[in-house]
Amino acid sequence: MVATVIVGMLCMHLIFFAIMFWLIGRRLQGNRLGMDAFALGNALLGSAYVLQLLGGGPGWNAAGVVNHTLTVCTPLAYWVGAMRFFGRPAPLLKPLLGLALAYAAAQVLVQWLAGPVARYAMLALVMVLMFLAMTLGVIYAMRDIAKDLRMEMALFALLIGGLGVMNAIKGVLVVQGGLEALDMKHRFQVVFYIYMSFLATMLAPAMIWLVLRRLTDELRATAARDPLTQLLNRRGLLAGLQGHFGIRSAGPARLLMLDLDHFKRINDTHGHQAGDLVLCQVAEVLRSNARGGDLVSRPGGEEFAIVCLDADDEGVRQLAGRVHSAIEQLAVPLPGAPEPLRCTATVGVSRPFHGPDGLDAAMQEADAALYRGKAAGRSRIEWAQ
Ligand code: GH3
Ligand code: MG
Ligand code: MG
Repeated sequence: MVATVIVGMLCMHLIFFAIMFWLIGRRLQGNRLGMDAFALGNALLGSAYVLQLLGGGPGWNAAGVVNHTLTVCTPLAYWVGAMRFFGRPAPLLKPLLGLALAYAAAQVLVQWLAGPVARYAMLALVMVLMFLAMTLGVIYAMRDIAKDLRMEMALFALLIGGLGVMNAIKGVLVVQGGLEALDMKHRFQVVFYIYMSFLATMLAPAMIWLVLRRLTDELRATAARDPLTQLLNRRGLLAGLQGHFGIRSAGPARLLMLDLDHFKRINDTHGHQAGDLVLCQVAEVLRSNARGGDLVSRPGGEEFAIVCLDADDEGVRQLAGRVHSAIEQLAVPLPGAPEPLRCTATVGVSRPFHGPDGLDAAMQEADAALYRGKAAGRSRIEWAQ
């Protein structure tokens, strides 16, 4: 009775969260983060338990065969969901269909050759192998694609490993005690389904938490970047500075402002799209010439800013010279145009500053230096006085 009530609750939980995952996947549209596969996994397991409740005891009938097949397909659907969550494209329906057909055929064969106990033992063995593979996969992912989710992955590995152990015990009990071990009144069955409910209760909100984390991280990253060049915007620059100056041993920073010379002419002569292309290529030049820790940004228009962190005067001088001449050497090919586009930049360098609060003043200093450079004939580097 207890196990039957638990399985009933488990069914409702699985089906409800299948609908939730499916709805979340629909909201996500482009990258569904595996939610559609998780929804299918929940629906498969939920359906398997519905069949178990309706089908009566463990016997040789169509409901039983379908039940085992759905149960075996569930980990695969979850695995595909996890792959998709981590941005690895993985097919879902074809492998599931292949596994379902193969496992249904295997059941008929084992039932015919070795009887029902062997069929149930086979289910336990296959589930143990699948959960073992999943646990190892999750542990491996902690060092690779899921580095930022170590805690969550450790919890998943523990819970999935527990499922493997439960199935191993079930397999041994079936081999030793026959189909009676599967009676819903059997103590192990009660423990097994309590563990399954505990798992379903923990895993579904944990998955929603992972999606929420991924989405808020993406939102934060998008809010910190300029959509055209993917360089930091002003907000991202400020966040980077806060990160840098949050460290006790942080050294001073310097700001380089770059403004492209006569950029309006490029837009006027070749069109706004050509202007955008030049902005993207200049952004690439800045990215590749800046040092690893520097913050490269596009605060707006055709102006760029690089914040050099922990750099001395000589380092900043070298960087300013390097980006200035790299922009001078840049040739942007335009489709249909005989000559590539070329441009120059004027650079203004601020004095050192010692905290995020210094950014506004540094921008004003660099701007003033920049406009002195413009007035003096452009394409030059000017230092704040
Ligand atoms: P100067 O040498 O004095 O800097 O001359 P300039 O023509 O570069 O300066 P100005 O400020 O007069 O013009 C900047 C131009 O940059 C005007 C604007 O149309 C263009 N611009 C600003 N943002 C974008 C953008 O996102 N894409 C493109 N294509 N053009 C932009
Ligand atoms: Mg400008
Ligand atoms: Mg300009």
